[in-house]
Amino acid sequence: MTCILYNRKLLWASFSFMVQKLVVGNWKLNGCLAANEALIGACGALAGVDMAVCVPFPYLAQAASLLSGVALGAQTVSEFQSGAYTGEVSAEMLAEMGCRYVIVGHSERRTLFGEDDATVGRKALSVLRAGLVPIVCVGESLAEREAGRVMEVIGRQLGAVLGSIGLQQLSRTVIAYEPVWAIGTGRAASADEAQEVHAALRRWLADHDAPAAGMRILYGGSVKTGNAAALFAMPDVDGGLIGGASLVARDFMAICRTAAANGDH
Ligand code: PEP
Repeated sequence: MTCILYNRKLLWASFSFMVQKLVVGNWKLNGCLAANEALIGACGALAGVDMAVCVPFPYLAQAASLLSGVALGAQTVSEFQSGAYTGEVSAEMLAEMGCRYVIVGHSERRTLFGEDDATVGRKALSVLRAGLVPIVCVGESLAEREAGRVMEVIGRQLGAVLGSIGLQQLSRTVIAYEPVWAIGTGRAASADEAQEVHAALRRWLADHDAPAAGMRILYGGSVKTGNAAALFAMPDVDGGLIGGASLVARDFMAICRTAAANGDH
């Protein structure tokens, strides 16, 4: 039974249902009105792939007005709904601005802004309560990988999210495997390294009774035009979370085209 649960080829063959890949751009702390207009103007929806861009808060309205066929997302969110939390932005506000996705638990939020597993879990819950889709980032540091602790770390990170949102809501999340050592370094995981962790992640989901085969697990960390095809050809890689390359329209579109060409498995 478990085998059928996470053997996606079998599932697709039995029910002939397909989930196309999802490619999400994470602009991080970049952009200005003029550059955003040019970037979005050069990005358009493609058949066969779902696309989204996660822009800085001040540019949500601008991006919402310019995007066509490409979903809007934010890069973080408050765990609180409203009240005396100066500087915070709630998930309800993001929904009102037209967001569909919100990244939570990005490693830069964890390491630079002290977000722990429990905070990430609460943020994922606030996103779901607003009717949006959290993109939950998980991933190990280089030291953790070298110590053979990849699944221990990822299991702990995901376990905190599961504990906060519950099993039913877990199936509504997108998971992004982003090894910390690959983010912004130019050193992506190899396709085999990514596949190994994605398959283990899907097993973890199945073992926790989540509908693992139908859930999207994105890979993030130095995805470029040159390595996207190999990564997206992997059976458990359902798309990408793209940082640096999403700031160059030609590269982002090429990566999206590669995802579309690889369909799903
Ligand atoms: C990211 O910020 O999520 C990311 C994957 O960045 P990059 O593609 O630049 O490594």
